[in-house]
Amino acid sequence: MTHQAGRHFLQIPGPTNVPDRILRAMDYPTIDHRGPDFRALGERIFGKIGKVFGAAGPVFIYPASGTGAWEAALVNTLSPGDRVLMFETGHFATLWKKLAERLGLKPEFIEGDWRHGADADAIGERLAADNAHEIKAVCVVHNETSTGCVSPIAAVRRAIDAANHPALLLVDTISSLGSIDYRHDEWGVDVTVAGSQKGLMLPPGLSFNAVSEKALEASKTAGLARSYWAWDEMLEPNRNGFFPYTPATNLLYGLDTALDMLEEEGLAEVFARHDRHAAATRAAVEAWGLEVLCADEAAHSSSLTAVMMPGGKGADAFRKVVLDHFDMSLGAGLTKLADRIFRIGHLGDFNDLTLMGTLSGVEMGLKLAGVEHRAGGAQAALDHLAAAAAEPAMRAAAE
Ligand code: PLP
Repeated sequence: MTHQAGRHFLQIPGPTNVPDRILRAMDYPTIDHRGPDFRALGERIFGKIGKVFGAAGPVFIYPASGTGAWEAALVNTLSPGDRVLMFETGHFATLWKKLAERLGLKPEFIEGDWRHGADADAIGERLAADNAHEIKAVCVVHNETSTGCVSPIAAVRRAIDAANHPALLLVDTISSLGSIDYRHDEWGVDVTVAGSQKGLMLPPGLSFNAVSEKALEASKTAGLARSYWAWDEMLEPNRNGFFPYTPATNLLYGLDTALDMLEEEGLAEVFARHDRHAAATRAAVEAWGLEVLCADEAAHSSSLTAVMMPGGKGADAFRKVVLDHFDMSLGAGLTKLADRIFRIGHLGDFNDLTLMGTLSGVEMGLKLAGVEHRAGGAQAALDHLAAAAAEPAMRAAAE
């Protein structure tokens, strides 16, 4: 292996770049997870983690990838044979459905074209037809990482309420939490599923369930077998900052710091930063004459942009050119979209100049790989960012 000078650009839509401050926070001896120092760490984390979710109730933390938190959300609230309504937003919604099937649930999948978010009206119509209330939960992926489309969670809540249906609302925010505006309590979500490796800027290895009173109540009678994921085993030790089994202590050091960093920047500013970078990226894609996969402007993701390859294929060869020449990883197209798209991650610890490095790498890669495009995408993004940076000063001058 030869040495590559400079930092690798990890511009996949998660795992994201881990900031030095978090790396330093984790580079500390592991402590007794039943001792007083751990208790202080746990209490600090449990005291502040709800804010990122917009949740006043419990947030359970698992030493697991996001898939574990998917499973936890289902096994804690549902019983064998329960019907669940899921929406096919893309690859990750499909995986969650498969997981539900393996657990012995009966998922009903509303078909999607992988270019839009979930359709709240279609969910409402299906629930309105379910007079016997056989559907026990509605599961939606907030930000579909495989497509870059966002689903309207508040509208899904309104559709459930309008149908007067008691189903629980379970939402996957694995690639939106800490990047895209999200409100667990305000939007009436019952279980929010999240992971450490994207907007929270941590390495993979932690995942989360934020839960409502209604979900906690459902967990008391839910019949699916569970042990490692059981919320009731977590509740009591969590109250004192502890866990029922050996926690991922060093990742929790990182989480403590990540939550501070989000608080210091301010969640509103974090979301605005992601919105700005996504808009600048789309300006670049448009200037290149390429097409964004997400076909609904209102659903464009602020954490990633999926770009369609002109001619319909060759995305993997293009990504290889970018990796080989510029040491930058771009996200691959998954399953149905394999080789047809590439995904630009612009989430997590990311600023205007990281975006410009990323888009410059994409533009140089397009040229080197011989992909048909127009020059000037990076310039269009630069103009967008420069205008956004000048905005506060112009507003102040006008006042
Ligand atoms: N859901 C979404 C939206 C994701 O993006 C991912 C992973 O990228 C997952 C679920 C699965 O999470 P994990 O790979 O951490 O198990």
